Amino acid sequence: MATVSKGNCYLCGAELGKTAMKNHILKKHGEGEQECVLLKIEGAYEKNYWLYVDMPPKSSLSSLDQFLRDIWLECCGHMSAFRAGGGRWGEDIGKSRKVGSFEIGDKIVHEYDFGSTTETLITFVGKTKRPPQRKAVRPLARNVPPKFPCADCGAEAAYIDTEAMYDSENPFYCEKCAESRDEDMLLPVTNSPRMGVCGYCGDQDTFAFSSLPFGDERP
Ligand SMILES: [Zn+2]
Ligand SMILES: [Zn+2]
Ligand SMILES: [Zn+2]
Repeated sequence: MATVSKGNCYLCGAELGKTAMKNHILKKHGEGEQECVLLKIEGAYEKNYWLYVDMPPKSSLSSLDQFLRDIWLECCGHMSAFRAGGGRWGEDIGKSRKVGSFEIGDKIVHEYDFGSTTETLITFVGKTKRPPQRKAVRPLARNVPPKFPCADCGAEAAYIDTEAMYDSENPFYCEKCAESRDEDMLLPVTNSPRMGVCGYCGDQDTFAFSSLPFGDERP
């Protein structure tokens, strides 16, 4: 995929690399009365998709599961699970487990859809604070959406051809060139490790800073 290393801070707009972003959040945005844990979230295999969020220690993994579905997974309500040890074959961790019960440095994996599975790697990276809020998961930063060149003309792609995605070097097509492809096989380009899988069409515009909903005009 395209090389993307930068992301945007949701709180101040700063554009930074993944590691610099962690330090930025801890240094510049670590103030408040509510104790939190800082989590790094990445595609387990596609690490150019990444997020930072904070969560109070007493929040459970089920809130994180819902957040991950909302921001980059949900297509049709598949099952999901968390696994210990940062690997796919780790022990199943119940979703009622509290975020504060993990050690800083621990890694766990989230699996969505046990057929065409999308795996997300979650690292507990530090302790932080925030102004009190009721939502368990607060998004703090997200990678800049990667851009893909159209296989036919090189313009910015809007679709991925899911029939071509496993055997062609470049399965991406722009609006115009997509017209000559099989419509049933096209899914929109999304800022997510689930792009092109099952019927995934992107998030619901809740996280609009760096993602555009399907159907919108692209700049
Ligand atoms: Zn910031
Ligand atoms: Zn699905
Ligand atoms: Zn094109």
